[in-house]
Amino acid sequence: MPDRKPIIAGNWKMFHDHFTAIQCTQKLSYLLDKADYEKVDVVLCPPFTDLRSMQTTLEADRIPIALGAQNCYWEKEGAFTGEVSPLMLAKLNVRYVIVGHSERREIFGETDDWVNQKTRAVLAAGMTPIVCVGETYEERQAGATDGKVLGQVASAFAGVKRDVVATCVVAYEPIWAIGTGMTATPDDAESTIAVIRGAVAEAAGAEAAEAVRIQYGGSVKPGNIAELMARPGIDGALVGGASLDPEDFARIIRFAA
Ligand code: PEP
Repeated sequence: MPDRKPIIAGNWKMFHDHFTAIQCTQKLSYLLDKADYEKVDVVLCPPFTDLRSMQTTLEADRIPIALGAQNCYWEKEGAFTGEVSPLMLAKLNVRYVIVGHSERREIFGETDDWVNQKTRAVLAAGMTPIVCVGETYEERQAGATDGKVLGQVASAFAGVKRDVVATCVVAYEPIWAIGTGMTATPDDAESTIAVIRGAVAEAAGAEAAEAVRIQYGGSVKPGNIAELMARPGIDGALVGGASLDPEDFARIIRFAA
């Protein structure tokens, strides 16, 4: 069996100001203990404005939750009004950056090429990208799921060295399941994740495919996490709505309803 430590990341999207972010982080840390962190890598991805406050809280209280960001630009600095650079995030001890979330692709028009540039920039700054891939409802109905994720994976990792791809995280997030309450069945999630692992093998070789961690995302809740995590190919979860509530998120981290 490959030795891939599960990784569960909370994507807070555009929720929580820095006051409520600190409260939620502290509450989550009271609910978790050493055994939880040994079993699972726990990540919180708040809005940019919360990062500095959360960094100081996590460091001052020695809470072993990793900090993640939800997006970044690929340049180091420059005249890019409204953007945040990977170096700025790395300075805040941000360890993970979500790249190509479907809300960014669908609402803000991010292309596969942008996702590739961001993936490479995040890696160059010493952080780990959580590269999101997934199909729309229409693509699923048309039997186009595999082709869509194959193309997204190949493009995201173009130009990335094989041993570096091995350190990345991929999140399979069927777009129709995000924020809708609909979850892919464990069978569907497992089979598409196998296709994604095949695409990583194609792009970066079998060793990278064995090592890369692939999460499922899309309406993950305490009630469905256990059956998803029981599947050997599913290495964790990217959790939106349910990560806003520390009690729900703690139960998800424990794979417990
Ligand atoms: C997400 O934001 O990546 C996500 C999966 O959201 P939700 O869990 O709310 O469906």
